[in-house]
Amino acid sequence: MTKEIIGNWKMNGLLSCEATFCEIMSGYAEYDSLSASADSDCEGARLTICPPSTLLYRFSSLARERDSRVLLGGQSCHHAAEGSFTGDISASMLHDCGAHRTLLGHAERRASGENDGMISRQLLAALHSGLTPILCVGEDMDERSSGRTRIRLEEQLAGALLLVREMGISMPSLLIAYEPLWAIGSGELPSVDEISQALECIMASVYDFSEVSVLYGGSVTSKNAAAILDCSDGLLIGKASLDSDELLSIVGLCYDSV
Ligand code: PEP
Repeated sequence: MTKEIIGNWKMNGLLSCEATFCEIMSGYAEYDSLSASADSDCEGARLTICPPSTLLYRFSSLARERDSRVLLGGQSCHHAAEGSFTGDISASMLHDCGAHRTLLGHAERRASGENDGMISRQLLAALHSGLTPILCVGEDMDERSSGRTRIRLEEQLAGALLLVREMGISMPSLLIAYEPLWAIGSGELPSVDEISQALECIMASVYDFSEVSVLYGGSVTSKNAAAILDCSDGLLIGKASLDSDELLSIVGLCYDSV
């Protein structure tokens, strides 16, 4: 199965970071052509970069000029299509700038006030605008310590998927990233067993959707990525995705059999 590799650049990057994006596009194209010429059954990686929205249009133009298969994503979206929401960005604006996908419910957005009800409406907006949602869920350290990881994941998924279920909306595909809050940017990770259990719990909670990929995110680097790739459909990568060499070595792990 093709692995999903998603780079979340967060609030990092100016127009001068164009060079980094170009390196990423070139490296990814090389892996892809290698695997095509090796005539193997290796399915490699589908790479998505979620830059700040100020860079989306520029990056999508560069990707188009180079015929690149790198996909672009937003980092969140407002639930409304337009209106008096100073500072916000709508799903249709992301799509208009060239995004194919968008993160929703990232822990850093939840920390600044987004809740499951809002995320449920954002998910509808994303689908309506033709964006594939990348829904982020994960427990905090208190929930982990008190053995409530499973309950928290089920709650977040039920909340975020409430409206699509109520309205009977079918999703062509849904990506869910398990990102424990305490693992984001901390250098600490759950064990591979814990990750597998969390991903199984997520899969069981979304049995009614057909095209679901479950990813892991939180302090992934080229040193720990291989074991996590073995038990997941892919990775959501923050800090390490800002460094083209580091990101490309992680992408390369998905082509190892070539
Ligand atoms: C993230 O914020 O989505 C993330 C995974 O960050 P990091 O890889 O830096 O922990």
